[in-house]
Amino acid sequence: MSAPTDQSSPSPPASGSRRVLIVGGVAGGASCAARLRRLDEAAEIVVFERGPYVSFANCGLPYYVGNIITDERTLLVASRELFRQRFNVEVQTETEVMAIDRPARTIRVRDVRTGTSRDEGYDVLVLSPGAAPIRPPLPGVDRPGVFAVRTIPDTRQIRAWIAERQARTAVVVGGGFIGLEMVENLVQRGLAVTVLEKLPQVMPPVDPEMAVPVREHLAAKGVQLRLGDGLAGIEALAGGGLTVVAKSGSRLPADLVILAIGVRPETTLAKDAGLSLGPRGGIVVDAQMRTTDPHIWAVGDAVEVRDVVTGQETVLPLAGPANRQGRVAAESIAGRATHFRGVQATAVVGVLGLTIATTGASEKGLQRAGVTRYEKVYLHPGHHAGYYPGARPIHLKLLFAVPDGRLLGAQAVGFEGVEKRIDVIATAIQFNGTVHDLAEAELCYAPQFGAAKDPVNLAGMLAENVLSGDMPLADWAALDRTPAFVLDVREPHEFAAGHIPQAVNLPLPELRTRYRELPRDRDLWICCGVGQRAYYAIRFLTQHGYHARNLSGGYTTYKDLRAAGLIP
Ligand code: FAD
Repeated sequence: MSAPTDQSSPSPPASGSRRVLIVGGVAGGASCAARLRRLDEAAEIVVFERGPYVSFANCGLPYYVGNIITDERTLLVASRELFRQRFNVEVQTETEVMAIDRPARTIRVRDVRTGTSRDEGYDVLVLSPGAAPIRPPLPGVDRPGVFAVRTIPDTRQIRAWIAERQARTAVVVGGGFIGLEMVENLVQRGLAVTVLEKLPQVMPPVDPEMAVPVREHLAAKGVQLRLGDGLAGIEALAGGGLTVVAKSGSRLPADLVILAIGVRPETTLAKDAGLSLGPRGGIVVDAQMRTTDPHIWAVGDAVEVRDVVTGQETVLPLAGPANRQGRVAAESIAGRATHFRGVQATAVVGVLGLTIATTGASEKGLQRAGVTRYEKVYLHPGHHAGYYPGARPIHLKLLFAVPDGRLLGAQAVGFEGVEKRIDVIATAIQFNGTVHDLAEAELCYAPQFGAAKDPVNLAGMLAENVLSGDMPLADWAALDRTPAFVLDVREPHEFAAGHIPQAVNLPLPELRTRYRELPRDRDLWICCGVGQRAYYAIRFLTQHGYHARNLSGGYTTYKDLRAAGLIP
């Protein structure tokens, strides 16, 4: 085999204009190229993309597998021709950037089809190489029939495999965002799907109790869940199928396997070039997305950015931040003093009709970051007015700082209106908002869309009640060892259907006549269905000299906390 020809002399910068080379032509790279052209008509802009397509919709890939998107061409957001004609940006696809020579300000590029390589000179270099799916070094992960989902060719192969093998069963390894999207789409294709997840919960970005409704929904839809069990290897069966071997020893037969256990920033180029990497493994950039080399910018999944809630560095593989960072880098290259604000991990996923959304820090994230002065409320309001037919609950958890009420994070699970509430809270977090801002937020209301007190308002009001002392909170985690008197103020039939073991039932309507039966010398921890009637009871009892606290979220939250193993 002949060696690839090298053309080592760098292409000179076009006279009078800067030569801007961009590595990676999808979310961050493409947005940077397009924005830069709008700011600088003179620059020569060249994008190098290893794959066959530029600017494709990677977020749409799972839906192409599921046949929701049936025409592959709709995944192509922009073509090389469009970049050339509309933006005068040259895109070189199937061209991989192999190395950066920082002193010479050149990159070595390789034509993937021919194997030939050459050097290209730059004045400015932008890295947007993304993140690669993690393939753990375990036996069998490279077998035919084991797929990761990153590119259009990946999904094409999955579709072909399903069709040719008439696949009926699949194992999805990893129950995070991409894993769940793949579950939905494989179920949509009629496959029986098993999820193997190392953690004891699905959806690792949310807190365990918030993942319980997701787990229950998946189970109700026939998805098999193997939680708290990792992947040990993948074996081939004589008849052509695969067996996924779990760490527990369980053996799961499958016609195909999807690996969705996370992504790792693609930093080889940056690292080999001596650019600084951060503690989370991403490329270090400043607020203008400039790396430790003044001629090189980096954006997207490959970089480390500041989490605006915890103040810590993080990597966040999401399309919104990648696009915004591409824009910030372009502005910075063009000489504007634009800064990237940081990230807060606002994300949403839909799975078989259920929506899970999150913004800011989770409780476990706060604990990891060493934040201790926070509180949380749970609520389960309808997604629109209860009197209008079809209202369904949104399970909402709001985390806020004590005592100033600064918003730290929110998670929500439900069927409708979930992402709208999280988006509102996300915006409030961006503006450094507090629970008072949520209580006061003026939001859309008509019966089919919301309520006069929207779930967002309610979350803020509940949190205000906590901060003002109107509604002290009981500590769910201490329920099994508290000396407090646990009072359940629901109706007897609700109590009979299930209750906290040590709870005593005294329905709210009887409280005014029977409250003297309650012990005065003990704290009262009060439970109801979702926390609202308990709040009314607290206000009454407090004004009669009792010390009463709310078990936030009521029996609905109790069941989720128990199912998540957070209370015995
Ligand atoms: P990418 O968009 O991945 O682009 C990087 C490109 O660089 C790649 O095409 C790669 O081929 C190329 N490249 C890498 N190295 C080189 C090199 N040396 N030379 C030349 N080219 C190179 N995010 C959301 O917010 N919402 C979603 O619903 C969502 N769904 C997703 C579903 C899937 C299946 C996947 C894979 C991702 C999803 N994401 C989602 C994440 C989102 O797509 C990424 O965060 C975003 O694309 C990151 O942009 P980027 O520019 O950093 O990297």
